[in-house]
Amino acid sequence: MGSQSTSVLHRYQANPDQSKQLKDQCIRKIEEFNLSCNPIHFTLVYEWLSEVDPYLSEELDRVFKLAQYDDETAENLFIKLIAQLLYKSLPAEKTGAILNQLLFSLDRWMTNTQQKQQLIQNEIELMQSNPMDDNSFARPFDRISCTLQELVENTQSLHQQVNDSTQEIRLLKEELERTTTIAKTDELTNIPNRRGFNEIIELLSRQALDKGSTFAIVLLDIDHFKSINDTFGHLIGDSVLRYLAKLLHRETKGQDSIARFGGEEFAILLPDTGYSDAINVANNIRKKIAARPLQVRSSNQPLQITVSAGVAMYQLGEEIETLLTRVDECLYKAKGKGRNRIVGESDY
Ligand code: GH3
Ligand code: MG
Ligand code: MG
Repeated sequence: MGSQSTSVLHRYQANPDQSKQLKDQCIRKIEEFNLSCNPIHFTLVYEWLSEVDPYLSEELDRVFKLAQYDDETAENLFIKLIAQLLYKSLPAEKTGAILNQLLFSLDRWMTNTQQKQQLIQNEIELMQSNPMDDNSFARPFDRISCTLQELVENTQSLHQQVNDSTQEIRLLKEELERTTTIAKTDELTNIPNRRGFNEIIELLSRQALDKGSTFAIVLLDIDHFKSINDTFGHLIGDSVLRYLAKLLHRETKGQDSIARFGGEEFAILLPDTGYSDAINVANNIRKKIAARPLQVRSSNQPLQITVSAGVAMYQLGEEIETLLTRVDECLYKAKGKGRNRIVGESDY
């Protein structure tokens, strides 16, 4: 377990022993947290304990540990999970059904058209083999024009069905886009989550290889966030995360991307940006955050936020994991040097 499953069917596969163990653990946790044993809680607790999706179980781990797990959180996480599963299976199934229907109609139309062509052919042959006067042409001619009319109607009905299916597939595509966006967006801050981040960084590395260019990454972490939570409460902690996401959005431009990398860590991806420019961007953001303590309504004490960040450059052809390890080491050094500072990979 622990690896991300690629198919819905295989997501919950475990051997009988693991399966029984998980079931017992789930029920114990459900009782421990005093939850009703409904499919929503069971699924989420199962997801959490089995770590079938590291990102989701990390999120669940956090809400359980922060005692933030309630019916509303459960519903949101469950919808997110379903959206993620639907994103994998539903559009493909529905599109398949529409295409099957279309193939069936096309087949029927072809058989029908062949029969009608044969009918017309027979009438023409009849007219040719029995020379008739002008008047006796009238009946076979009526029959031919009637068959032709049916042919036209059949073709029109097929045309209508092709139009309807096109419309249905367009709606499915929109639905797919919606569920895809939900699965890649962090619901607290409304910016890309780790899954979204992975997609962006993979795209950037492909583009960098194509163009022979590079990009910078800034990995930014709130200093002593645990004590902010402890002093002001988790709801204020959540507001700080939202505030920071907005600030990062404001302070980055054009093709730059931001993402919530993990709990209180954010990533900034800066395409076509050199090392010293990336350090400047990170430092400007750091200074802006430090210069503006927040005022919390329920407290007289100002909420001073600072962040530390690491900065690294993507080296053409390297694994993304290698880059992430490098930038994480920089962040770690920034913390070690006393926090509220930026450490770049060339600084040591
Ligand atoms: P450091 O300066 O070394 O980064 O210290 P820290 O306290 O920020 O780091 P630590 O890893 O010890 O704690 C991170 C805390 O962030 C713990 C966790 O409860 C909190 N956290 C993570 N995600 C969320 C969230 O979504 N909301 C809130 N309110 N807190 C969160
Ligand atoms: Mg921190
Ligand atoms: Mg951290």
